[in-house]
Amino acid sequence: MSAEQLSRTDTGYEVMPCRDEDPELFFPLNEGTINAPSLQALAALAVCARCLVQDACLERALDYGEKIGVWGRTTGPQREHILQRRGR
Ligand code: SF4
Repeated sequence: MSAEQLSRTDTGYEVMPCRDEDPELFFPLNEGTINAPSLQALAALAVCARCLVQDACLERALDYGEKIGVWGRTTGPQREHILQRRGR
């Protein structure tokens, strides 16, 4: 089941822990670097680490070209690196 499908169900809110957090946590002014995320980014990544749909969330963020913010347990610089490795 994809993140979008889950977000349309009641159970989706239980498996996506970001729903219980301040959305601003996931959009740090400074995301840090690929290997050294900022402290705020690390806090958001820790929330994602508890998420049951992080893989689907990451693929959606890559497909939609999300350049900033923490999605699918990655920061913007980390997703840019993934896209470069995939040749996209
Ligand atoms: S991976 Fe992170 S941003 Fe994506 S749905 Fe899960 S908790 Fe939210």
